[in-house]
Amino acid sequence: MADRAAVPTKDYGRQNALLWSELQAAVADAMQHDKPVLGRAVGEFEDELAGFFGKRHAIGVGSGTDALLLALRAHGIGEGSDVLTCSHTFAGVLSAILLAGARPVLVPPEPVFGQLDAGLLEDRVTERTRAIVAVHFYGHPVDTDAVAAFARQRGLVLIEDCAQAHGATWRGRPVGSHGDIATLSFHPSKNLGAFGDGGAVLTDSAAVADQLRVWRNLGKTGKYDFGALAANTKLDTLQAAILRVKLRHLQRFVTRRSELAKRYLRGLDGVGDLRLPAVHPLATHAWHLFVVRTPRRDELKAFLAARGVRSGLHYPVAAHAQPGIGPLLDGARCPQAEAWAASVLTLPLSHEHRDDEIDRVIEAVRAFYSERP
Ligand SMILES: *Cc1c(COP(=O)(O)O)cnc(C)c1O
Repeated sequence: MADRAAVPTKDYGRQNALLWSELQAAVADAMQHDKPVLGRAVGEFEDELAGFFGKRHAIGVGSGTDALLLALRAHGIGEGSDVLTCSHTFAGVLSAILLAGARPVLVPPEPVFGQLDAGLLEDRVTERTRAIVAVHFYGHPVDTDAVAAFARQRGLVLIEDCAQAHGATWRGRPVGSHGDIATLSFHPSKNLGAFGDGGAVLTDSAAVADQLRVWRNLGKTGKYDFGALAANTKLDTLQAAILRVKLRHLQRFVTRRSELAKRYLRGLDGVGDLRLPAVHPLATHAWHLFVVRTPRRDELKAFLAARGVRSGLHYPVAAHAQPGIGPLLDGARCPQAEAWAASVLTLPLSHEHRDDEIDRVIEAVRAFYSERP
């Protein structure tokens, strides 16, 4: 009765089964031969990760949010600084900017890819603007040429948030390699996910890397020396051991995601009022999320659920409208981001999905539009 089982949005058990013997061996090796905290696996993973992204240094930390917070601090961005970022985003991006003591300045998304609209940066820049946090949202790169050129011309720090974009490229080079500093999340849901929380910062600067290694570890500069004031946010040895295995397969998994995305794009082309994701000609998409848009989103979501097709929302409430964040933004609004929030629907797409599951989703979506035109 396998064909009656629901199509999940993700299946971590199945995903781990794809690499089971390698994961088991890596975890066993770490537990038998490595240190639990800042073990050998952490350093090895950091080197391999830096290599994959084309940056000199990677520093493993406790989460993607902490990575962003530390990246801002490493460039002196805090109290008194404005940070430009897209309003159509993951709420945690705004949290990190606020936690750093800076003020997020919201830039609306452009209408095609839903990314930071580089054409509007000029408009939003203030005397206090110090940085741009460019989120490669859903796994699709921002217009990196335009954003990097603007940052250079204005002397702004360009921080690339690659939490959703492991494996995406711009002009054939990995996202994360274009700006001054980049951040990653290894939340289990991401393309490169740990079995728990984790994150990393990527930089070419040895000085910044040294600073971050102190800041992730209580500010410790020696066994008994607390040379800086800092919290404790290290990437665990066990997570690093797991991530080393998964990084070796990342490219293959992103290729698989892209095959499934093409299957959707063929199967759903021209169906109803559905707007499908587009890919910029200079970009490759990491296909972290396959996000479609329709004004009948809630109706479609319920229809799919009744047919055993799970779907997601990324995200149903605009970040600036969140109760814990909005009040800290001086009443900032963004109708474009609110329109995206009201119409997005994430269809199941992960490297562990089978072709027949994607076909079932396509059939169910087509049935919705033929049964309820
Ligand atoms: C997931 C995510 C983060 C935060 O990552 P955590 O590891 O969950 O703290 C930051 N930015 C974006 C765009 C994300 O998707």
